[in-house]
Amino acid sequence: MRKKIVAGNWKMNKTLQEGVALATELKSMLSSKPNCEVIIGTPFIHLATVAELVKGSVIKVAAENCADKESGAFTGEVSAAMVKSTGADYCILGHSERRAYYHEDYAILKEKVLLALRNGLKPIFCIGELKEEREAGKQNEVVKAQLEGSVFNLSAEEFSNIVLAYEPVWAIGTGLTATSDQAEEIHAYIRSLIAAKYGKQVAEDATILYGGSCNDKNAKELFSKPDVDGGLIGGASLVAEKFKAIIDAF
Ligand code: PEP
Repeated sequence: MRKKIVAGNWKMNKTLQEGVALATELKSMLSSKPNCEVIIGTPFIHLATVAELVKGSVIKVAAENCADKESGAFTGEVSAAMVKSTGADYCILGHSERRAYYHEDYAILKEKVLLALRNGLKPIFCIGELKEEREAGKQNEVVKAQLEGSVFNLSAEEFSNIVLAYEPVWAIGTGLTATSDQAEEIHAYIRSLIAAKYGKQVAEDATILYGGSCNDKNAKELFSKPDVDGGLIGGASLVAEKFKAIIDAF
């Protein structure tokens, strides 16, 4: 069964105390069960505290990254096993900011995805094209290469533990949003690629989120499309009322 999900990505925002306050507020707002799964993606240092705080509620926790190595002498890195040990269930991987600023290429992301899965984490794997690639009509080519480069090596069973997030880079944090028709068109294309690789049922069951300036005003329209299964939310996930309004779009 395909899951509907609204996931937040706090990025490098909120001190531990501010993050705890936000998670507490959100938990109390979500005392009655929403019509979708709710995930909050927090910095590493928040994970254990926030995971404990939301235990037993409808909220699940995601890391925003994990290392591409199992363990050892990699100063400053945080492994997938460490993330799992905090109580987190998900791990955002392949975010365009990590691809652009930390040079995470297809091969690095392939390792990260494998390590996340082997350690019992569900990757939220982000793909999406740059502005110039969209302008050149290359968006389909770009997402196909990103999937082939980092996740289409997985078995069908492994792939069924992945959530995809289509995030056009030109829409992230810019206030520009893909129209719901643009989102639907490429989500349907992504699903067709999954069907060609893993078969119709795996594709039907795959959750494909939209991300890129999704907010309380446009979420309902975006989520009404048959191949848009929810959202990955940056800026609007930092304010409990705004994030809750997006969840309520379902
Ligand atoms: C993101 O960073 O994943 C994102 C979608 O950001 P925003 O909602 O702020 O565009």
